[in-house]
Amino acid sequence: MTIYAIVTGAAGRMGSTICNLINLDKDIELVGAIEKHEYLEKIKGLTDTISSDLKEVASKYQNAVIIDFTYPDVTQKNVEIAVSTKNPMVIGTTGLNNEQMGFLEEAAKKIPLFWAPNMSVGINVLLTLLPKFVEMLGDLYDVEISEIHHKFKKDAPSGTAVKLAEVLRGAKGFDKEAIRYCRQGMIGERPKQEIGVQSLRGGDVVGDHTIYFFGPGERIEITHRAHSRETFAQGAIRAAKWIVNKQPGKLYTMKDLFEDV
Ligand code: NAD
Repeated sequence: MTIYAIVTGAAGRMGSTICNLINLDKDIELVGAIEKHEYLEKIKGLTDTISSDLKEVASKYQNAVIIDFTYPDVTQKNVEIAVSTKNPMVIGTTGLNNEQMGFLEEAAKKIPLFWAPNMSVGINVLLTLLPKFVEMLGDLYDVEISEIHHKFKKDAPSGTAVKLAEVLRGAKGFDKEAIRYCRQGMIGERPKQEIGVQSLRGGDVVGDHTIYFFGPGERIEITHRAHSRETFAQGAIRAAKWIVNKQPGKLYTMKDLFEDV
């Protein structure tokens, strides 16, 4: 069965990678590429329907999965459209605030909706294994996270670093306030209940995340490096193929997809 996709932000770093990979995949067909009006020229030739009007294209292809890697406010508008046209949707946009995440949770009750701040297999395996590390290392080990991304990235910390910190915080049994983004000034000794997250930006780094476990007389560093955006794009395409058969009801994540294989 061929699956149909509409990609928003099709001229973007992620959007263009996803469109190109879809065009090489016989099981999924790109029926629409959406971009801001001024960039439509850049995406000419990707597919027959090039437009800046998602609503019009989604209404025409109501069985198509909308794949969205844009900006939080754009994503929210696109979800509103998907709810009105009843298209399933896969979202990779990061930097959404609590209100916007709440909006996604509500929309997920009406349409099949998938969101993951990192679509790579490696990061999602790591997310599954980290609680085991925390459990085995015990209380003596302090956990810190650093992330590096290209200079054009708009949000900080990365959605992946936030997710890693949340998973580690849960495993440690710490309060929500334990996550500390950046340190500066006379900060005093590091409290026991703390997970620091630091962001570096520069060059063309696709995405590096390191988790440190600092213990007495030793430390463990676990690093994930994304070499290319294809790893995220393949994850998004896999999610698009998976979500078409799902019912609305919950905001699906990579964990649901992996548990379903
Ligand atoms: P980008 O700036 O290269 O691309 C965004 C695109 O959206 C741009 O081409 C822009 O013109 C387009 N756009 C903006 N407003 C629009 C509108 N109203 N209609 C149509 N198109 C519009 O950004 P990027 O590097 O591709 O990243 C996009 C998002 O994906 C970011 O939030 C990033 O953090 C996230 N991301 C997620 C993953 C993941 O695995 N989940 C991986 C990489 C990046």
